[in-house]
Amino acid sequence: MIHIFPCLSDNYGFLLHDPISRLTASIDSPDATEIDKQCTDHGYTLTHIFNTHHHFDHVGGNLELKQKHGLTIIGPKDDEARIPGIDVTYADGDIFKFGQFDIHMIATPGHTKGHCAYYIPKLASAFVGDTLFALGCGRLFEGSAAQMFDSIGKLRALPDATKIYCAHEYTLANGAFALSVDPHNEDLQAYMETAKDLRAQGQATIPTNIAREKSANPFVRAKNALEFATLRQAKDNF
Ligand SMILES: [Zn+2]
Repeated sequence: MIHIFPCLSDNYGFLLHDPISRLTASIDSPDATEIDKQCTDHGYTLTHIFNTHHHFDHVGGNLELKQKHGLTIIGPKDDEARIPGIDVTYADGDIFKFGQFDIHMIATPGHTKGHCAYYIPKLASAFVGDTLFALGCGRLFEGSAAQMFDSIGKLRALPDATKIYCAHEYTLANGAFALSVDPHNEDLQAYMETAKDLRAQGQATIPTNIAREKSANPFVRAKNALEFATLRQAKDNF
């Protein structure tokens, strides 16, 4: 089961819990205090952190939580040197066990060189960090547009019903840009209305899903790396 909670200014924290093995993972560690509180509230003992990439708002709580709980930190092999306290690394296409769940690591370079996503078929869910956002995608800090286009293509290839857990609440700002480049897309218009209602009620717009992003997200709909690069540059200046 998956719990989502807001933390820091616009991050989301996620807990993945397996009630059979009683293992609990925090996806990234944006806010150690809030992650601890969420575990306590649910009666969970934190056993793992799965990191998506090395940015501070994703690894900032690693060492504090590791010291407190003696937990295991898992992350992408490509970012081994930059993730504090990392214990176990996996590479693109690796599948590891987490209690009853098989977890697939998908390398998604672009936002950073070593970025990865975690896909859990049994839960029809993927944790995508800062690669894919609802109606948008991550900035290109280290990788190229062509790399990011490929990475988003890997996520787009997941089953339509896959729930996508993005690490930030950026949906309305992303949607404003999306509407500027695709103003007549009715799926996008409807999605934005729903997102506005959710935000007005203080609710998360996350998770989204693959089908919705295929119909409304210009970065997922881009036909090739060149189109993608042009969009990404336009968004940076929007
Ligand atoms: Zn980041």
